[in-house]
Amino acid sequence: MSTTTRKTFDYDVVVAGGGPAGSTAATLLAQHGHKVLLLEKDSHPRFHIGESQLPFSEPVVERLGIDWSANNQFKNGAVFIDEKTGQRMHFPLSAQRRTFQIERGPFDQLLFENAAAHGAETRQREKVLEVEYTEAAVDVVTDQARIRSRYFVDATGRSALLGRKRRSISRIENLGRFAVYCHYEHIAQNEEADELFRTGNIYIPVVDIGWFWIIPLSGRRLSVGLVVQKEKPAGMAVETLFQNYVEQSPILGRLLDGARAYAPIRTEADFSYTNQQRYGVRYACCGDAAGFLDPVFSSGVFLAFTSAARIADRVDVALKEGNEADPHLHADDDSEYRLGFDTMRAFVERFYQSDMVHNMFFEADKHPHTQEEISRLLAGDLWSGDNQLQNSLLSRRRVLAGNRP
Ligand SMILES: Cc1cc2nc3c(=O)[nH]c(=O)nc-3n(C[C@H](O)[C@H](O)[C@H](O)COP(=O)(O)OP(=O)(O)OC[C@H]3O[C@@H](n4cnc5c(N)ncnc54)[C@H](O)[C@@H]3O)c2cc1C
Repeated sequence: MSTTTRKTFDYDVVVAGGGPAGSTAATLLAQHGHKVLLLEKDSHPRFHIGESQLPFSEPVVERLGIDWSANNQFKNGAVFIDEKTGQRMHFPLSAQRRTFQIERGPFDQLLFENAAAHGAETRQREKVLEVEYTEAAVDVVTDQARIRSRYFVDATGRSALLGRKRRSISRIENLGRFAVYCHYEHIAQNEEADELFRTGNIYIPVVDIGWFWIIPLSGRRLSVGLVVQKEKPAGMAVETLFQNYVEQSPILGRLLDGARAYAPIRTEADFSYTNQQRYGVRYACCGDAAGFLDPVFSSGVFLAFTSAARIADRVDVALKEGNEADPHLHADDDSEYRLGFDTMRAFVERFYQSDMVHNMFFEADKHPHTQEEISRLLAGDLWSGDNQLQNSLLSRRRVLAGNRP
């Protein structure tokens, strides 16, 4: 901690939100030697959806110094399934880096406690209400205290504290509208289920109303969700819609034969937005607070890890050099973030055009190069610059968006 901080500030950095983004930012900043306060409004372990991870998160996970293999199901890849024809297409993901299907409650608790183990001060059940900026400091007002800091990181997830207060959230239309999901245990002992738990693949059956996720979790449990793109049939409860689609699905029929739901059916709506003001004088947003994408390619936690790490490294240098109030501090890193987010966005947008799913995903084995390029995107390999599929997705998006930011 600098002499200036000791005299004038309570902390170098206050981080709001103890999910993957906030715990990552807090841990890395504490590792860099800064005085960090991490605030979480709930208390861990708390339930959170978002179980399927990407291999290209592994470099950040290694920096955090945690073992994400412990108690988690290894994930080999992603399998897209056409429910009408039964056709399957497998995209292997874990060739160079490993990844896992994780239960978020214990995993997020591990990340949060890890921040404390690296020297961040952590507080639970404390909610950030307001953030007030001057040239010289940030005042963070919580439901319990007023805290003066040199820098503020917004990692409040889809609450997107700053984005919503400043009305800088823009919805992305025409993707999934809502998700309805449930968790099951006592999964059948049959060939289908054995194969799923042996490989740890995520299955993505495509149905007329949207798509399912089927995620194998440790302890032979399953997370099953339906993401709906179309209008819900009038008068039908979402739970009924979910159960109807589960019953009609041949693959779920085999997997859930004799299984038992051990959690309530839950729903999440309000998908897919960007935050147009992700950084400014003495603040930056990471994870879902910076933007959220329909979960079809499981990119959420990966973008949370990578955006938080980028911000932590930049803020570290700025605090050491004393230029943390520079309004353009994150301009270069934000371009990198945009490259990743926009790639995933363009990829998701194409997924929702059904011709793309059939022509590209289900025909991929006829074009091994395309299969490899899809696998790289699905793994989170977004910053290599040599993926032709990525380049064409991005240039098509730029044309459609008229080069608007
Ligand atoms: C239906 C669905 C399925 C998904 N599936 C996947 C998947 O398979 N794989 C994947 O990687 N991602 C998935 N995601 C996305 C994933 O859940 C998020 O991208 C990820 O949790 C983002 O992490 P985060 O740290 O930014 O936010 P969060 O994990 O939401 O953490 C934010 C934290 O901030 C706290 N908070 C909020 N406001 C305040 C406040 N004012 N003060 C203090 N604390 C506050 C919250 O309590 C929370 O703990 C899915 C999302 C949905 C909706």
